[in-house]
Amino acid sequence: MTYTTLDLTGKTAVVTGGSSGIGLAAAKLLAARGAKVLITGRSAERLAAAEAETQFYTLVADAGDPAAIEALRAEVESRFGALDILVLNAGITPFAPLGAWDGAKVDDVFGTNVKGPWLTVQALAGLMRDGGSIVNIGSIAGQRGGAATAVYGATKAALALMTRGLVPSLADRRIRVNTVSPGPIETPAWTKTGLPDDVIADVKRQRADASPAGRYGAPDEVAEVIAFLAAPAASYVNGADILVDGGALAA
Ligand code: NAP
Repeated sequence: MTYTTLDLTGKTAVVTGGSSGIGLAAAKLLAARGAKVLITGRSAERLAAAEAETQFYTLVADAGDPAAIEALRAEVESRFGALDILVLNAGITPFAPLGAWDGAKVDDVFGTNVKGPWLTVQALAGLMRDGGSIVNIGSIAGQRGGAATAVYGATKAALALMTRGLVPSLADRRIRVNTVSPGPIETPAWTKTGLPDDVIADVKRQRADASPAGRYGAPDEVAEVIAFLAAPAASYVNGADILVDGGALAA
């Protein structure tokens, strides 16, 4: 038996939404394993703060904006020449019930969480080296109901199916495409849901209590799975959707 490796020395990686939460944890772990990492986000300040912690390349780029995706393609080409690892993590989590949505709000969440990842794969696939890895960040919300999470969950279900649909298109170049679906993870995203603070506190307590793990996950626990999928150790994992939810979906 020859054991394969988690080492990423010499690899290049892009993590969208890499300035916070799960994306930042993933970017740090990929860099710690040897990859050169470029992170994106909308806020230059948050990108600068992340860059100060670890040496990343950064680019302000809105994940749902076709012009910004083209700018990302040009930056990757000039900075790296070729790409090995693409983590499509940037996502927004507006939680709101039926009746609280207008067309612009629905377009915004689908634009960031579905259209953007598709156009980014389309733009960057040509730069990817044979044997590369694409990891898309889904959610358990894409696999179950929820009054406030119906639209968000629909975007994550679409992303997971899109991921599987990419497998045959990239198979001849041995580029693997997988989804990681986190459950409740302790990140700043919860302050951006649009829910009042007391409701967030209640929801978080209920979710922690309902989970077999009895707690929220840490961004690093998701990053471990992302970095595994990015590495040669995951050479026969393709089209998978891996739950990182402490057992929440099974409860
Ligand atoms: P987070 O801490 O709020 O981080 C989100 C990151 O994405 C930030 O770097 C943010 O930077 C960036 N971002 C957001 N919208 C963007 C856009 N339009 N263009 C470019 N960058 C954008 O959130 P997180 O919890 O780590 O979430 C990361 C991913 O995990 C998301 O796809 C989310 O749906 C998924 N997820 C999270 C959980 C959870 O419990 N936390 C559970 C399941 C799935 P800027 O704000 O500067 O743009």
